[in-house]
Amino acid sequence: MNKPTVNSEHNFERHSERHSEQDAELAMNDGPAAFPDGPPGWPLPNEEILASLNAAYASGDWGKYHGEGIAKVERCVQKLTQQEHARLCSSGTIAVELALRAAQVEPGDEVILAGYDFPGNFRSIEACKALPVLVDVELDTLAPSAAMIQSAITPQTKAILVSHLHGGLAAMEQVAGLAKENRIMLIEDACQAPGAIVDGQPAGSWGDICVLSFGGSKLLTAGRGGAIATNHAGCIQRAKIFADRGNDAFPMSELQAAVLPCQFESLAKQNAQRQKNAALLTAALSTAFSNEQNSWAIRPLDRADSSSNLPGYYKYSMLLHPERFDAGARAECVNAIRAEGIAFDAGFRGFVRRGSRRCRKIGDLANAQLLSEFGVILHHPILLTENESSIAIIADRILRVTNAIARQAS
Ligand SMILES: *Cc1c(COP(=O)(O)O)cnc(C)c1O
Repeated sequence: MNKPTVNSEHNFERHSERHSEQDAELAMNDGPAAFPDGPPGWPLPNEEILASLNAAYASGDWGKYHGEGIAKVERCVQKLTQQEHARLCSSGTIAVELALRAAQVEPGDEVILAGYDFPGNFRSIEACKALPVLVDVELDTLAPSAAMIQSAITPQTKAILVSHLHGGLAAMEQVAGLAKENRIMLIEDACQAPGAIVDGQPAGSWGDICVLSFGGSKLLTAGRGGAIATNHAGCIQRAKIFADRGNDAFPMSELQAAVLPCQFESLAKQNAQRQKNAALLTAALSTAFSNEQNSWAIRPLDRADSSSNLPGYYKYSMLLHPERFDAGARAECVNAIRAEGIAFDAGFRGFVRRGSRRCRKIGDLANAQLLSEFGVILHHPILLTENESSIAIIADRILRVTNAIARQAS
């Protein structure tokens, strides 16, 4: 799926015309793929990145411990998240752990976490020898509500870790209010949503500590890398002390840092394009969902509900009908849609099945379970297309494949 080839809009156009007829055969039935060259690659070719790499070479910064690049990216992170301090590190995963350490999460403490989240977040809590306390998520935000979090608070609760996932946005205004009321540290994982607007403010600005990733598939990428940002000088200091093993144990390099500033600059424009295409996709998928009452096969889980909520679309999220699919049928859908040249996947596995020695669960985690079994996601690169017919074709193929497989199943 991660083909290095980057499809031109030209290719999408050519093939979209050929298969626009309603009765075009699906790839799963040996028809031609909607996008025979596969999904667009990531990162995209970018002259500015090439110029930045050349500049890092020319200045010699590429081979230094402390050049100008890291400080520059730290300023980008501060600006994006509206936090006063930032520290770069080697990955989003380690950034989550640094955030937990910075929040003084210690052995025996409890950290509240969604039952459906990035797998590493559970492990990072365990790395601090703290106990993950799992709460359910809402289907319209893909994150726990403040009420769900509130029901999990005990005197042992040290931190709340909340992620914006798959085009969803956590209800940060309420969650931040709750954390403040209870004097619990709030860690906001914005790895999937840099530049998103949540309750009228940037993603990453609500948490006491915010986490970003610059991993190779992410919206801002240096291949690897991550960051924390916070208004608390003490938190940055604690993260620094934890990472200091004589030198920085989890560093980002100057060479990695070199490619990021120009991406921060184009982020808002790219986010707007992704939001526009996500809205088109949601509209196309919703018509079928609302017309078919209970016989729908797939529904969008998208929350671009107002100007105060503008999601980041690292992934675009959908749900298969839980009564018309099982695990096998979901895998079949994923394969059949990928065969069309669409970057489609199952969602996270979630933590619902984790043993009670490793975590505590609040309630039945029904939605987290639903997402882990029936959630499916579209990877973001195609959402930058300027060819609206590509989005129409994707919606069409998703609907036809899922309907065909749902029918077989029932
Ligand atoms: C990708 C991701 C991370 C981890 O980032 P890496 O840089 O891949 O280690 C953490 N949280 C979320 C929500 C992510 O999507």
